[in-house]
Amino acid sequence: MKRFIFACVGALVVALAALPMRAQTPPAPRAAWSADLADIRRVGTLIPGRKPLRINVLKFAESHRTKNFSVKGEPATPSVQARTVFQVVYADGYVMVDAGMDLPMHKQIGRGAEEPYFPEQAQQVDKALRGARAIIFTHEHGDHITGVIRTPYLAELAPKSILTRTQVHTLETTPQFPDLRITEEQAQRYHIIDYDQYMAFAPGWALIKAPGHTPGSQMMFITLDSGREYLLIGDTAWHMDSVRKVTGKDAPWIVEDTNAVNDQLKWLNGLYNSEKNLVIIASHDDDEHKELVAKKLLGGRLE
Ligand SMILES: [Zn+2]
Ligand SMILES: [Zn+2]
Repeated sequence: MKRFIFACVGALVVALAALPMRAQTPPAPRAAWSADLADIRRVGTLIPGRKPLRINVLKFAESHRTKNFSVKGEPATPSVQARTVFQVVYADGYVMVDAGMDLPMHKQIGRGAEEPYFPEQAQQVDKALRGARAIIFTHEHGDHITGVIRTPYLAELAPKSILTRTQVHTLETTPQFPDLRITEEQAQRYHIIDYDQYMAFAPGWALIKAPGHTPGSQMMFITLDSGREYLLIGDTAWHMDSVRKVTGKDAPWIVEDTNAVNDQLKWLNGLYNSEKNLVIIASHDDDEHKELVAKKLLGGRLE
């Protein structure tokens, strides 16, 4: 018996000795980001109820950044980054996508430049946030989230603000600006969700995990009652030319997982070219928003 145990221990030692050899094999290649529109469509049908009727956009500020920052290799021609929120309107209420920001955060993001901030529109954003059934976020950057982090209406807005666990983690550990930092205790005031790849959020609406621009970035696939489909891609691309050219940003002040963003741009480019019923919307693309409002594919005001 003793000899048997010894033999077993010996076998274990041999097995352990073999481990460093295994460690020398090259690491597994990075898992590429991917998503499947058929799966996403299915997830979007999981919650019963009437689908949304329309989607509105409102611009409350502008940043003037030359095109080369949004799309690497483009000339340094003038370009407007619209600071926006989106409103998804159901028959019995609406959900806000992103919460905008106050003037101090706009100045902070502008890094010293005097850039347009529209106080009347900013007030409309606050009013819409207070009237919303829920508020959900494309990602945890200051221009999208300050409206529920630093707001006089925190007690009212926090319980209906839905943050992902990853968004909360960034805000707790590595926020874009120190004054966006929240503690775990403060995070508990918000509604925190977690999911792997896709999540059904509301009738006609699926969330798609898309870390890249930030760790907590997510896209939102929304099918309207009319059957028209939308994909809100947040800041995966700042301008739709990034999707058309499969070329990311060149902005030294933003740290992204560029491999993941490139995978996402490739996927979006495929959809852009093949899905004629799908409207892909980048949060900051002023040119695109104007065109979509003119075509009545987006409403140009909040309601
Ligand atoms: Zn961003
Ligand atoms: Zn942004």
